[in-house]
Amino acid sequence: MSKRVLVIAAHPDDELLGLGATVCWHASCGDLVTVAIVADNGTARYKDETIESVRYCALQAARRLGVTEVRFAGLADQKLDMVPILDITQWIEGILQDIHPQIIYTHHRRDINHDHQVVHEATLTAARPYSSPYVERILCYETPSATEWAGPYAEDSFVPTVYVDISAHLEAKLSAVSTYTTEIRPYPHPRSLEALRTRAAHWGSVIGVAAAEPFMLMREIQRPLLSAVDVLDDRGLVERKAAGATA
Ligand SMILES: [Zn+2]
Repeated sequence: MSKRVLVIAAHPDDELLGLGATVCWHASCGDLVTVAIVADNGTARYKDETIESVRYCALQAARRLGVTEVRFAGLADQKLDMVPILDITQWIEGILQDIHPQIIYTHHRRDINHDHQVVHEATLTAARPYSSPYVERILCYETPSATEWAGPYAEDSFVPTVYVDISAHLEAKLSAVSTYTTEIRPYPHPRSLEALRTRAAHWGSVIGVAAAEPFMLMREIQRPLLSAVDVLDDRGLVERKAAGATA
């Protein structure tokens, strides 16, 4: 059965650098993937970027990966700590209520980029179990050139607990990354195509496959399989009918 997947990214390209191949894998499995980008006003990063050019890159990349839809909050890049976190949380909550995702991917909580930290916190707040009971898994992804540059504090380390074999989807990821012409750097920068390939090979070697993307599991909720006497209410909660009851 296909799943609804929500990928939340602070900036355009985060979703691609962190889990572009995993997104492609989900799409190939028939899952419906929504990418939600919080801050795409790129003026803080590059003078020649405009919102339109950044969104064009994001949409082009999403198309290559089989993403179902991309949503933009349109907030200012590198200034999310100046926005009430309630505003960001409520924007994410609105998407959750729209699409009822079973799987959510978000940033690691201590990336060096503060926007990533804000998005991580807002995601966990928005996806509280009682307000979004349909969510089965929340995972954090690493963002090359952000996660590994955080401080050396053990409690804030990115320690993968889930790996996705992306051997069949790595080339699609790199092809999509190449559409972000303003984001690619020469090797050995972490955002170079060669370094991304090497990184995928490293994570793959951990689990014995050619290439992988790593994730930290934040929460997983296992529910009993639905039976003929179970029904879902409008929030995805299971309402178990007593034996012999009629709907
Ligand atoms: Zn970012």
